[in-house]
Amino acid sequence: MKTIIVTGGSGFIGSNLCKRLINDGNKVICVDNNYTGRMCNIEGLLSHPNFKFVLHDITEPLDITEKIDQIYNLACPASPPAYQGEHAIDTTKTCIIGAINILELARKNQATILQTSTSEVYGEPEVHPQREDYWGFVNPTGIRSCYDEGKRCAESLFFSYHRIYNMPVKVVRIFNTYGPNMRHDDGRVVSNFICQSLQNQDLTIYGDGKQTRSLCFVDDTVEALVRMMNSDKDFTGPVNIGNPEEHSISEIAEIITKKINNSSKVCYMERPADDPTRRQPDISLAKQKLNWQPLTSLDDGLSKTIAYYKIDLQRYK
Ligand code: UDP
Repeated sequence: MKTIIVTGGSGFIGSNLCKRLINDGNKVICVDNNYTGRMCNIEGLLSHPNFKFVLHDITEPLDITEKIDQIYNLACPASPPAYQGEHAIDTTKTCIIGAINILELARKNQATILQTSTSEVYGEPEVHPQREDYWGFVNPTGIRSCYDEGKRCAESLFFSYHRIYNMPVKVVRIFNTYGPNMRHDDGRVVSNFICQSLQNQDLTIYGDGKQTRSLCFVDDTVEALVRMMNSDKDFTGPVNIGNPEEHSISEIAEIITKKINNSSKVCYMERPADDPTRRQPDISLAKQKLNWQPLTSLDDGLSKTIAYYKIDLQRYK
């Protein structure tokens, strides 16, 4: 049995990861400040003897006395509406000061530490699909930069700790992920479109809907995180984790509308600044090093997610 910290553990991917690690027989310490995380995401775990929740903001040092074997660092708001605007400075602090605090905890424990980086490090990509050796094209002063540059700096910190202290670090770049436990008001495309459609509201397409994303179901993402954490010590990444099946936003609206079959139509709204035009992961490295690729079809993943929101939306009536 390993003792594992998951920061951001009551968030969307974090809570799915905690559940998986508990089911695998580990002891899990879930750390979150619940800014975007929610207790309802982990309510099924709270009574488990091997699960502990710690309410903590990682921009403050974390004092855990137990011996820790592994740390997954997922703490950070990840939805554009959540990390922009008045939360921009906190987002950068979480990415950088938070990463330093968690790296120091890993150093003290000689624990393996995994950083969840993001496809946003590629910014508005000039190469397509994106491979890990592409350095990206990020606007350093734009409204997304608090997140994009924060995550880029966090990658830099992880590799500095690896070089200076010879620490076992792992860096994954997660592409768009969807599934149960994403907040209904998260603001991202899948949660918005499903919740709008279930409530007979029009689906809000930003811009002309020709921009693309590649959507990965959360169970596949979690599988990749676990494989990466337990991969060869020498394999640091960065490695792309995502589903290479690319769709335009208009196609995603159409697929969801058809599946839910309510009376919703689409409406068009202004496209946010610096919204990337195309995004698709090249996952050759993950296939080769982790023997991983996504297994859930978009149709199956959306069915599971729609079933989740049908119940979840009842809470907010
Ligand atoms: N999007 C949209 N309508 C929405 C939410 C998002 O058209 O209600 C678009 C958004 O402009 C972007 C894409 O969907 O082009 C994915 O946005 P999301 O926020 O889900 O993820 P990210 O931009 O972080 O990839």
